[in-house]
Amino acid sequence: MTNISILGSTGSIGRQTLEVIENLSDDYFVDALTAHSNVDLLEKQVRQFKPSLAVLWDEADAMSLKHRIGNICEVAFGVEGLKQAASLPSTDLVVNSVVGNAGLLPTMSALDAGKSIALANKEVLVTAGEIIMPLARSKNINILPVDSEHSAIFQCLMGSHQPPAKIYLTASGGPFRGKTKTDMANITVEQALAHPNWSMGQKISIDSATMMNKGLEVIEAKWLFDLRPDQIHVLVHPQSIIHSMVEFEDGQVLAQLGAPDMRLAIGYAITHPNRLPNPFKRLDFTIHNNLTFEQPDKINFPCLALAYKALEAGGHYPTVLNSSNEEAVALFLDKKIRFLDIPSIIDKALSAYTDKNKHLTIDSILETEIWAREFVISNS
Ligand code: NAD
Ligand code: MG
Repeated sequence: MTNISILGSTGSIGRQTLEVIENLSDDYFVDALTAHSNVDLLEKQVRQFKPSLAVLWDEADAMSLKHRIGNICEVAFGVEGLKQAASLPSTDLVVNSVVGNAGLLPTMSALDAGKSIALANKEVLVTAGEIIMPLARSKNINILPVDSEHSAIFQCLMGSHQPPAKIYLTASGGPFRGKTKTDMANITVEQALAHPNWSMGQKISIDSATMMNKGLEVIEAKWLFDLRPDQIHVLVHPQSIIHSMVEFEDGQVLAQLGAPDMRLAIGYAITHPNRLPNPFKRLDFTIHNNLTFEQPDKINFPCLALAYKALEAGGHYPTVLNSSNEEAVALFLDKKIRFLDIPSIIDKALSAYTDKNKHLTIDSILETEIWAREFVISNS
């Protein structure tokens, strides 16, 4: 029996996680569900999955949910509620599918409570991988990647006694692959949200359009697999069939392939080390009969180079990268800045920041997040 708490259950990954669980055997239960503010959907999920705890961000929303669902389950709110959902004594596995650094404190609570974590929330590894991974290793806690590229690498490394010589993170290239900065000068929010291969939450869709998503994934891979930056290569593969590859010392390359469907990666993170049957789409090589690769365009998509720069600088620079990106993407979605302002404001934030406090703590990360967000707001 596996009890699962899902942080961010109303989002793209959260909803797909519930679909995965619905299609698994009766051995998998939902223990907690959390959402930011979608009371209607959370109510529906609570009625269907009957968790022991439901959490919303605002107290007023939590009161409204409590009123609607009666005593189906306990209701909590705010960061304390999220931390509670991440550390319930009855929970075996926490699926962290919150978007952004908001998932950091609940991740720490899950680790403190010794829970296995299926991690979709890449931003927390970008800002705090240096704290999270050693802590997880010292406590023998599994961090199971949900991000499809990292799930691919994780699977390619299963059973290997040696670390990889290098990895290839594949990237679709996003909706603007092949375009120049001039072509992208007047990109609208709607155009940037339309991803060719994946249907995802708004923030990651914009990150895919700027290619910051791949930049964040480079840093995520560094921490998950303990690699140097020069071992992490990005390869544009527009078909999104090879989810990533690993090259070993002897030149042999292993790849993981599958339909571009996040439910496969989510399912593996939940059932690991087992593989259980599911009804999701299979690859058909008569249709996917042309797999191509190209180098990423670092000139027109500067976010990737900014991410390597932050990774090389280390310390709090990845937090500056991540938090200035989160704020810039929010401003773009609000139509307050233009698409190409996103990389330029992040570049400015990285240049303006001076990392006085090299020692990384959760508090110093949260302070740096505030600095980066304020920098973006006052410089755009
Ligand atoms: P989403 O925006 O669709 O969902 C985010 C969820 O988090 C929602 O349930 C929302 O209510 C909750 N949430 C948002 N802000 C919150 C806050 N401040 N406090 C508490 N809860 C909050 O996002 P998504 O696309 O599901 O992505 C979730 C994470 O998974 C991201 O880190 C993303 O990069 C990663 N990821 C997503 C996909 C995908 O296909 N969607 C693929 C790989 C990785
Ligand atoms: Mg990914």
